[in-house]
Amino acid sequence: MVTVETETIQQIYNLLKTISDPEIPTVSITDLGLVRNVEFINNKVIVTITPTYSACPAMHFIEREIINTLQLNLFENVEVKINLNPAWSTDWVTKEGKIKLKESGIAPPLPIINKVEFKQNTITCPYCNSNKTILKSEFGSTACKSFYFCEDCLTPFDYFKPI
Ligand SMILES: [Zn+2]
Repeated sequence: MVTVETETIQQIYNLLKTISDPEIPTVSITDLGLVRNVEFINNKVIVTITPTYSACPAMHFIEREIINTLQLNLFENVEVKINLNPAWSTDWVTKEGKIKLKESGIAPPLPIINKVEFKQNTITCPYCNSNKTILKSEFGSTACKSFYFCEDCLTPFDYFKPI
């Protein structure tokens, strides 16, 4: 049985899906797994989010975006809670999010199990799927990404580091 509340929460999730990450506009905050929980109690929406390591300064921006987006859709009473424990992990990036990252030319993060030896891992080029890639720099366009170069299609790209 689908209750009104379940439908409302689904509707809220659908709205949250439209909010882009400020650093990577092609992925949404739900793609990155930032939204931990959505509640709807006594006509009040409570959205719990966990910031990524890179998005901390952007948190207030995301908070405002959530409130604005929901209020535009007639959810007047909105509270955003920030949960730092457990810390955000790249393992929370959804399948859809990883596809969108790749489409944006960013190699998606490998599962966390590979974190320790990530330098030894082969990172697949998001453009041509070649494994002939080399690490150029630990730090790419932002601290959370490494900079790689594909020796097949000669294209540089970012790799989203697992955390
Ligand atoms: Zn390539």
